[in-house]
Amino acid sequence: MPEALPPCPECDARYTYELGVLLVCAMCGHEWSADQEAGESQSAAGEPVIVDAVGNPLADGDTVTVVKSVRVAGGGGGTIKIGTKVRGIRLLERPVDGHDIDARVPGFGPMKLKSSVVKKA
Ligand SMILES: [Zn+2]
Repeated sequence: MPEALPPCPECDARYTYELGVLLVCAMCGHEWSADQEAGESQSAAGEPVIVDAVGNPLADGDTVTVVKSVRVAGGGGGTIKIGTKVRGIRLLERPVDGHDIDARVPGFGPMKLKSSVVKKA
């Protein structure tokens, strides 16, 4: 075991081991991060959180319902009606023109949507 690992801040035992980004005390089970970057990587540097119209976080594969009618510019045109159910959405890491969801809309086919016009079903 490397000498560099610090003793447990809880019980002062030196039976510390590494578990990913965390340090774990073998004596009391206390877990902590060796530096303060662990928490940061989960929120700021981690995956961007995309939320729906009412603030629910969305995830890949979610089923959502359209809450605002969406005019479709390309293809045959038309309007996606409120209440349309869209299954298996995919979140875009880099939003395209404000659209951060990739989805297959029944009757319209694959297209990009804004998370602000959908609600998690
Ligand atoms: Zn401990």
